Amino acid sequence: MAAGWEAVIGLETHLQLRTKSKMFCGCSTAFGAPPNTQVCPVCLGLPGALPVPNGAAIRLAVRGALALGCTVHPKSIFARKNYFYPDLPKGYQISQHDQPLATNGTLSFVSPERGIVNATIVRLHVEEDAGKSIHDRFPKATAVDLNRSGVPLIEIVGGPDLRSPAEARAYLQTLKQLLEYIGISDCDMEKGSLRVDANVGGSVTQQPMLYDSRENTVRPQRSKEESHDYRYFPEPDLPPLVLTPEFVAEEQSELPELPPAKRDRFAAQYALSREHATVLTASRGVAEYYENVVRAGAEHQAAANWIMTEALADAKDHQDQLRVPAAGLAQIIALVKGGTLSHQAAKRVFAEVAAKGGDPRTIAESLGLIQVADSNVVAAWVTDVLGAHAPEVGRYKNGETKLMAFFLGQVMRASKGKADPKLAQRVLEEKLASAS
Ligand code: ZN
Ligand code: MN
Repeated sequence: MAAGWEAVIGLETHLQLRTKSKMFCGCSTAFGAPPNTQVCPVCLGLPGALPVPNGAAIRLAVRGALALGCTVHPKSIFARKNYFYPDLPKGYQISQHDQPLATNGTLSFVSPERGIVNATIVRLHVEEDAGKSIHDRFPKATAVDLNRSGVPLIEIVGGPDLRSPAEARAYLQTLKQLLEYIGISDCDMEKGSLRVDANVGGSVTQQPMLYDSRENTVRPQRSKEESHDYRYFPEPDLPPLVLTPEFVAEEQSELPELPPAKRDRFAAQYALSREHATVLTASRGVAEYYENVVRAGAEHQAAANWIMTEALADAKDHQDQLRVPAAGLAQIIALVKGGTLSHQAAKRVFAEVAAKGGDPRTIAESLGLIQVADSNVVAAWVTDVLGAHAPEVGRYKNGETKLMAFFLGQVMRASKGKADPKLAQRVLEEKLASAS
């Protein structure tokens, strides 16, 4: 960035709400149906069709607003946002303009450059989605699918608080995490459930950006052709949206524990580092899994270590599924702690349970992984190893005691990982001390 200039980025996030039916009609919102099969006179914008607001969508929008610390207004107004686009059959979108559902919230996120930033949420309003233009289905023609037309959205407008693309990324990650926690959307960017526009430099440029979930990057989308004069006016077919204080209070009381609170509680309750607590609360599913493993009797830090390494690595390769049941992981951890399984062997058992299911102990037995703690058997391995490495034994006796790790490695190898390492070390020490 040129000297004297600073990036000023505000993000507008559109989020599809998790409802069965559309915002103003009863059509299904299910993704992936054949084009134009989930439509009716309302969402096709046929003359005379009247919209009716979806109560479930309003409830989810209020929940989102409260999770972001916004003020939810007792009265908000639906407005028509007029513009022409082939996938907008009415010629306007029903949105909210000068009296939105909620205003003035905050999203705290960790900036890689500035530490904790409290980004302003300027407003959150309810609106309907447009249809989809499909450019790659027919050669030289664009097709329109109106299944998405009228699907409930919230638009979350962030203030100009972000200073770099890295901050925009961190903000979005935090926002997505929060919205997933409260369960108001599947936040699936591939299905378009979460879409992001960036306002860079406020009034200087407006460039719609696409957030790529797999790459975790933000890149420019098609540029917006239309002007920004939408000629908003209040929607004459809908009365003001009036929410009682009781309704808002009820939604507030039903909010689950949110990520920052859960992270702090994990750190305190389970004596975890802040880093570990952050990883374990990154998603609600992983946090629940951790607590179930601990409830099944696993030691706090061991459970954290296993989940952050084996379980999350396995989940990453299997559509985020935590394939080893919490009780199974607790049992594997107990087998290691009790000396029945080496850590290496336990990892194999974990992989086996993940792939095929089953009881960890039975699997460990069938794979011949139960650790050998019989000192006669271990002593035989030790004798073999020392016999095969006479020069190293000599060096050890001349003071090169760090060779113990080498001997131990050889014993583990000779035993195919089955020797109890603590016992093996003790036998090694004895034999190296006595042999002269
Ligand atoms: Zn419809
Ligand atoms: Mn919008």
